[in-house]
Amino acid sequence: MKDKLLSVALLIGSTCGLAHTAQAQQGFGSGAGLPRNEITHVTGDLYRFRDVRHFGMFLVTPDGIIVVDPTNSRASAWLKTQLDERFGLPVRYVIYSHTHNDHASGGEAFAETATFIGHENMRHNLRKPAPDAPLPPRERLWDTNGDGLMQRAEVEGSAYYNAFDNLDTNADGALSRTEMWERQFGGEQVPPDIYYADQATITLGGKTVELHYTGRNHSDDMTVVLFPEERTIYTVDFLTPKRPPRTTLYGAFFPDWLDSLRQVEQLDFDVISPGHELPGTKADVIEQRRYMEDLVAAVSAGIAEGKSKEELVDTILMEDYDHLIEYDVSRAGNVIGVYETLMSTQ
Ligand SMILES: [Zn+2]
Repeated sequence: MKDKLLSVALLIGSTCGLAHTAQAQQGFGSGAGLPRNEITHVTGDLYRFRDVRHFGMFLVTPDGIIVVDPTNSRASAWLKTQLDERFGLPVRYVIYSHTHNDHASGGEAFAETATFIGHENMRHNLRKPAPDAPLPPRERLWDTNGDGLMQRAEVEGSAYYNAFDNLDTNADGALSRTEMWERQFGGEQVPPDIYYADQATITLGGKTVELHYTGRNHSDDMTVVLFPEERTIYTVDFLTPKRPPRTTLYGAFFPDWLDSLRQVEQLDFDVISPGHELPGTKADVIEQRRYMEDLVAAVSAGIAEGKSKEELVDTILMEDYDHLIEYDVSRAGNVIGVYETLMSTQ
């Protein structure tokens, strides 16, 4: 695959970097008392910000700020106020981890000053499909009456079930392809100004941020953001330290996901700052990759033996991983998610 190297250096905003760094240190922790939002220091001029269970990041440079995942409109409005107060610098770049609207919404807070960047597959994910567009392969498995729509009973146990009435905007008792799309992608995301394919590099104010596409995993448009000087990566949804993935949520790509984790292992970093939960280390990547390898191997073996989905849920226990966060609630769902993904792509 051809590497596309994007190098952008902005010469706007000649404010003093040292002053802003000092200001940053002083401002630190002042958001910690807020129950919903807070900013925490990672290292150097790199920070993570919180919106309840979601986390984005930002890197402060003398020439402006690089934000990763504006998250949602409420969070980004709050973040903009914080950045203005603490640093007095404009946001020059917004990087998207992926298109899902619980991470990629809220960009409008920075739209006046920032260039938005995301993986090229965000382009098709942001495009609303026609109501009569065919269902994705896994959803076709659920479509037991074969009408190309999802009745309530057909989405039981999926991310669509609890949101069914909100999604069913024409109230016909079934979700079309368009109505399902709204669950993951609908909203007011500011589309990227720049789409990259395999790898991209942003330079701003003497600092560098790398964007790596490591293939399909939780989505087909996932960016791993690497801060080389800070030896930190930002990963969302497909790699959460000490928490199993959720393969049923919006579907998943196997075996691609495994290869994606192996590629992350090859990156040069010490710390993972994830989109959910607490930061971790490379050891967490290795554990996550092993979890996924064990899960996919067990489900594949069960399918080869002709076992049913229910038999696999009853017998694949993943006990080696019972120390992980949400192990109990993840286990059955992940067996089902891998089973359905493998069955729908055979
Ligand atoms: Zn997601």
